[in-house]
Amino acid sequence: DDGQTLAKTEEMINGLIKKRPHLSRFERLSKNRSAACLTVPDQTPMERFNKRHLSVTQLCEQSWCEIKVIYGFLQPHVKRREMKKSAVITGSSIHLARELEANPDAVTFVVQTREDREALKLMKLTQMVSGLKAGQLVREFPVFGVLEGVFFLGVVDELYHNESGELVLKELKTRSHNSLPHPAQSKGHFLQVGLYKLLFDSMVQGSMTRLNLLQYLKLQPHQAFGSELQIYAQKLGLPAVTFGELVDHFLNVLNFCNLQAVNKLTLEYIHQRSGSLVGSIEVEFNEAQLRAELRGYLAFWRGQREPQGVDVENIEEAWKCSMCPYEESCDWRTSKLQEVIVDGNKKTRFD
Ligand code: SF4
Repeated sequence: DDGQTLAKTEEMINGLIKKRPHLSRFERLSKNRSAACLTVPDQTPMERFNKRHLSVTQLCEQSWCEIKVIYGFLQPHVKRREMKKSAVITGSSIHLARELEANPDAVTFVVQTREDREALKLMKLTQMVSGLKAGQLVREFPVFGVLEGVFFLGVVDELYHNESGELVLKELKTRSHNSLPHPAQSKGHFLQVGLYKLLFDSMVQGSMTRLNLLQYLKLQPHQAFGSELQIYAQKLGLPAVTFGELVDHFLNVLNFCNLQAVNKLTLEYIHQRSGSLVGSIEVEFNEAQLRAELRGYLAFWRGQREPQGVDVENIEEAWKCSMCPYEESCDWRTSKLQEVIVDGNKKTRFD
């Protein structure tokens, strides 16, 4: 019943306002219309949050709620607290266990420079490309490259060839409930595996250049490896002692590996507590649709449109706010709920 819903919404807003008494209802509404306080004139979110590149997971978070992404930058301590409490930690240990299973001889180094850290990743990646080519299953495979003019980074959970010779990209997700996710949650997962495929395919199809890698990541080609890493590179038989030489070698390996594009995208859901399989989903890939979606998300980062939060009037979406650590202080949500009341009152008057 409309009247009851309105009364409940009004009660909820009054509760929120009581928790922030320093702002009156009028100030809150005028200050927060269209989440204007979350954007800065003349600065795109890329500039404001000092982003040279984006991660695939960042885009998936964005598909959940753009206002939450902004709050994550403005109040990072809340985000850290949420991650500690949430399933992320359990999920990470399940991922790590799987990675060690595939690579029991994992090595660790104390790295001195950013170039050393990235070099170690490239060395591992070079080995993984050869492993994949030789028919092995590889885990935690880094992917990167330029999509729609922005440099992206990501890490694929699993890549392997199935019995039919198809290359399968699998993403592992942990679930606190023993059921497959709600469509609003799987939307981000579909986006994630689709973007991984675009990045992987462009890497093996030779789109990656030396300039892309060095420029976007702001790395120095003449930086020599630290002593431990030099010994490791020799052990692997890599013809490189500087970061630039390693990039050249890696691009050579990539360009001549003849790896095929990914044929299948799979999401595997694991129950957190029991570790048992909840279910798998095969994801359809539509490049034109995915790129259009990606351009829509990038328009936010480029400051070409206002950030969009959850549609609080839509029952399929509104529940997201109840899981959000910014729920009580979220200006977007409060102003949208206010609009619902105002519209509802108008509607009641005209009815
Ligand atoms: Fe987004 Fe809702 Fe969280 Fe606000 S409360 S940041 S609208 S999820």
